[in-house]
Amino acid sequence: MQKSILVTGGAGYIGSHAVLALKDNGWNPVVIDNLVTGFRGAVPQDVPFVEGNIADHDLVSATIKKYNIIAAMHFAGSVVVPESVSDPLKYYYNNTANTRSLLESIIKNEVRHFIFSSTAATYGIPETTPVHEDMPKIPINPYGTSKLMTEYMLADVAAAHDFNYCALRYFNVAGADPKGRTGQSTAGATHLIKVAVEAALGKRDSISIFGTDYDTEDGTGVRDYIHVSDLAAAHVIALEKLIDSPEDSHILNCGYGHGFSVTQVLDAVDRVTNNKLVRNLEPRRAGDPDALISDNSKIKQRFGWTPQYDDLNLIVKHALAWEQRLIENPIA
Ligand code: UDP
Repeated sequence: MQKSILVTGGAGYIGSHAVLALKDNGWNPVVIDNLVTGFRGAVPQDVPFVEGNIADHDLVSATIKKYNIIAAMHFAGSVVVPESVSDPLKYYYNNTANTRSLLESIIKNEVRHFIFSSTAATYGIPETTPVHEDMPKIPINPYGTSKLMTEYMLADVAAAHDFNYCALRYFNVAGADPKGRTGQSTAGATHLIKVAVEAALGKRDSISIFGTDYDTEDGTGVRDYIHVSDLAAAHVIALEKLIDSPEDSHILNCGYGHGFSVTQVLDAVDRVTNNKLVRNLEPRRAGDPDALISDNSKIKQRFGWTPQYDDLNLIVKHALAWEQRLIENPIA
């Protein structure tokens, strides 16, 4: 029977790009998604799709057996930093407790490789930037803590069982599939580039700049924006490394190693659309650090990962193209 890769949250933004990257590289993804924020239409028709919860042991075990799952990529979870501040228990449930349940099913069914969507929010406010993997992890919001707790679980599970993992600490993920096959579709977006392209296409009247008094060059927050397809490619490399070297686990930053301020991002959107967004200057948002930029030397050296889309204009263009497509042909 052919081997398959379980993709939790495969109907979501990053998961659906990983499904395409797996297929493009000859792997067989199988998606499990509860469709709370994901879309059935984001998963290609020829990819097996299981609707349900990752904490449902019977369902996950049956799926692992049915499809001969040898590894899992775990994207399912909640991702909005300000929401994690106002509703922390949702984050400890969806991100930490549910991952614990999933891991139990993974270990019981002898799935040996696991790739985890971690986050730069595990670092909190870094002492220096760019931030290296070994620097202190002191999250300043429940989102970051909920993911860091999962990293701890993974390390303990890998020490106890025949199992290895790769935790990829994502910086700010943006853009969409260059071929227009999938993109960020969830309503009520809060992430900067998504919100900005919505505003550029008239779905919003204006865009808020949260904080103009940060300790950065122009006073607005600085982030390391990484194209979602480069991130998806890193997952496929991680999968292959975990299989090739089953003794080794990895914790790696995923970013480009340089950042842009909110103002620079909005300028890029204006350039690409040849228009001017209406910008409202507003107070800082809860839980936001000044600047978050990756040191990506480890993933480059260990995995030979080479970004293909390290270009802010291109990220904005792809995000915009997907937003346009959503207007013409809403996803369900
Ligand atoms: N941001 C903003 N306006 C928005 C959304 C975000 O000014 O409508 C800022 C936010 O304060 C931060 C940066 O853009 O400095 C990136 O925020 P986002 O929510 O995209 O990602 P996060 O870094 O919080 O994961």
